Amino acid sequence: MIKNNKLCSYDVIIIGGSLSGLQMAVSLGSYGISVCVIDRSKINNILNDEFDGRTCAIASASSNLLKHTGVWEKVEKYASPMLDIHIQDGDVVKGMSAYSMHYDNNLVNGEALGYIFENNTLRRCQYERLCELDNIDYIEDSQVLDYEINDDEVIVEINGKTISGKLLLACDGKFSKIREKEKFKTINWDYKQTAIVCTVDTKDNHNGVALELFFPGGPFGVLPMQGNKMSVIWSEQDEIAKQVLKMNNNDFKEHLKQRFGDWLGDISVTDNKVYSYPLTAHHTTGYIKHRLALVGDSAHSMHPIAGQGFNMGIRDIASLTECIVKAKKAGRDIGSIETLKHYEQYRYFDNASLVLICDGLVKLFSNDIGIIRTLRVAGMGILNKIIPAKKFFMQHARGMVGTNIPSLLKKYTDL
Ligand SMILES: Cc1cc2nc3c(=O)[nH]c(=O)nc-3n(C[C@H](O)[C@H](O)[C@H](O)COP(=O)(O)OP(=O)(O)OC[C@H]3O[C@@H](n4cnc5c(N)ncnc54)[C@H](O)[C@@H]3O)c2cc1C
Repeated sequence: MIKNNKLCSYDVIIIGGSLSGLQMAVSLGSYGISVCVIDRSKINNILNDEFDGRTCAIASASSNLLKHTGVWEKVEKYASPMLDIHIQDGDVVKGMSAYSMHYDNNLVNGEALGYIFENNTLRRCQYERLCELDNIDYIEDSQVLDYEINDDEVIVEINGKTISGKLLLACDGKFSKIREKEKFKTINWDYKQTAIVCTVDTKDNHNGVALELFFPGGPFGVLPMQGNKMSVIWSEQDEIAKQVLKMNNNDFKEHLKQRFGDWLGDISVTDNKVYSYPLTAHHTTGYIKHRLALVGDSAHSMHPIAGQGFNMGIRDIASLTECIVKAKKAGRDIGSIETLKHYEQYRYFDNASLVLICDGLVKLFSNDIGIIRTLRVAGMGILNKIIPAKKFFMQHARGMVGTNIPSLLKKYTDL
C-alpha cells in the first residue's frame, strides 16, 4: 500500500527498505527530493520491533548523518554509548595473552567512540521519521523483480500501478537481485565462519566497555547495550558453530562463559535466544549505471570483525545524497552517469580498502600459528604504548579519518 497514495512520479525509487533503504530515503527526503521506497516486508513487522539478535555499532561520524536527517532525535534514547574498547588475543585452553590494546575515550576528549543500537529499533525510528516527510511514499509487502530503464526515466510496475522516477537505487542487501539482473561483477569471500549472536544479561554494569577478543576460531565481540546487557557476536568456524548451536542452554552458557569471562559477574543469555549468520563478504566492481546505483550491502559486505558494514553504507548514503541534492539544485539530471560517477569515485576506494582490511584482519587473527600469534600479541603491546598511533586508530574507528568525508558526516553540514 502506498503511504500517501498521491504521487506516482518521483525523483528517486528505492528498492529495499531496511537500514540502508530507509536512511537513504529520509536523507533525500530531508533535502527536498521525492522518494518511493518499496520493500517486501510488512510495515507491521517494522513497527513491532521484533529483535533478530542483530545490533549495530554506529561510529560517531555516522551518527552525524542521523542527526542531520531527523532520525537521531527518535533513536537517541535507545543508544548505548561505547566509551572504551579492549582488544586482546586469547585461547580457551591457554588463556588470554599478556598484552592487550585499550582504546579509552578520554584520549579523544571524552567523546563516545560510537553508539550501539538494536537493528530493528533503528529501522523503526527511521520509518517513524519517514512518516513525517510528505515527499516520501513507502510501499510494503511488495517485491520488485523487474523494471524498465530508458533514456529519460525508470519505470516500475507494482501492485497494478505504474510508478516512475529519474533514478533507481538498489538498497536490496547482500543478495541483491538488482545487482544480479544488471550483471555487476562481484568478488566474493567465504570465511567458513558463522556469527553466533545473542544478548546476555550481566550482574555488573559494563560502563560502556566493548571487548574484541581474538580466538583461533574467530573474533569474539561484545558490545555494551542499555542497562546490564551486552550484545555478543561470536564468530566460529562453521563446523564448530553447528555443534555450538545444537547445545542445550546450560552447555551453551558454559561455552560462552569460557570466552566472555567473569569480569561482569554471572551472565545469562537473554530469553535463551541465540541467532546465527553465515559470514561472507563481497565487493562489486562498480556501483553505477545510467539511472541506477547500488548502495550499502548491495554493493559491499564485510566480516563484522570491525563492525563497519552499515557504517560504510552510511558513508555511501551521505555521499550519494550530496551528489543528488547538488545536481537537483543545479538543474542537472540526477540519474545521469555524470552525476552518479562522483558517488562512485568518492566511495569505491574507501569501501574496497575496508573490505580488504577486514579480510586481512580475519586471516591474521583467526589462527593459532605460533609465530603469527607471537607477532600480533607483541604488536598489540607495542601499539598500546604509542599514544599518537592509538589516537589515530580511535579517530578512524569514529569515522573521522579519510579523504572525501561527505559534508553530512560532519558535525555541521553546508548542504
Ligand atoms: C553479525 C553481524 C553483525 C554486524 N555488526 C555491525 C556493526 O556493529 N556495525 C555495522 O556498521 N554493521 C554491522 N553489520 C552489518 C550490517 O548489519 C549491514 O551492513 C546492514 O544491516 C545492511 O543493511 P541493508 O539495508 O543494506 O541490507 P538488508 O538489511 O539486507 O536489507 C535489504 C532490504 O531489501 C529488501 N529487499 C530485498 N530484495 C527486494 C526486492 N526485490 N523487492 C523489495 N524489497 C527487497 C529486504 O526485504 C530488506 O528489507 C553486521 C552484520 C552482521 C551479520
